[in-house]
Amino acid sequence: MINKKEIFEKNLDRVLRNIEQARLSVDEHSIIKLVAVSKYSSSEDIEMLYRLGQRAFGENHIQQLGERKEELKNLPLEWHMLGHIQTNKINKLIELKPSLIHSLDSVKLAVALNEKLALKNIKLSALLEINSASEESKSGVELSMAKDIYQEIRATCPNIILKGVMSIGAMSEDYEVVKKSFEATYNIFDALKNEGATICSMGMSGDYELAIKCGSSMVRVGSSIFKG
Ligand SMILES: *Cc1c(COP(=O)(O)O)cnc(C)c1O
Repeated sequence: MINKKEIFEKNLDRVLRNIEQARLSVDEHSIIKLVAVSKYSSSEDIEMLYRLGQRAFGENHIQQLGERKEELKNLPLEWHMLGHIQTNKINKLIELKPSLIHSLDSVKLAVALNEKLALKNIKLSALLEINSASEESKSGVELSMAKDIYQEIRATCPNIILKGVMSIGAMSEDYEVVKKSFEATYNIFDALKNEGATICSMGMSGDYELAIKCGSSMVRVGSSIFKG
């Protein structure tokens, strides 16, 4: 039988080493946070990763986030919401109180979320998702509008604590194209540092080292950790 624990250990060690190498090539004083994306795995897998030291996990669907959080409620895990949020699921999302929502992708969603949060007198932390390569298949606000939208949400949605930006790199085999999309997101982040932006969430299994080199402070890695 394949020993999953050994595979996870090897995977996690490799990812952490790669993160560390990329980090040192950019800035010795930065801290890069790893969010392990558990959407393709099971609660048992998550528990194994926890035993190896991983604490932050990300899910794409509110339903699955709820199930995992309930099943693993005895562990001190930190949950991140990464996927597109439908307005009719906002109440459920608020109930789950994720430590960070990466996928705030429109003013409309922000207003609806803020309204429900205000009613319950709760605040939640979120990142503005940017569609950095203007791809139709992706959620997120247009690059050219991102700064204004960030400021608008910050000014009008007091129950949302905006902490920065999130982006999925351009879907391309061309390194330069992906790099450009990360740089564009980083530039927005950089311009918002005086407005509460401390987190730049970019980079997945295929491109997290590049993302770190472009200024990412939080990477979301799934398959490179959970797949054998
Ligand atoms: C699935 C997903 C990830 C992780 O993807 P991998 O390629 O498996 O590392 C990261 N961010 C978001 C928003 C995702 O949907």
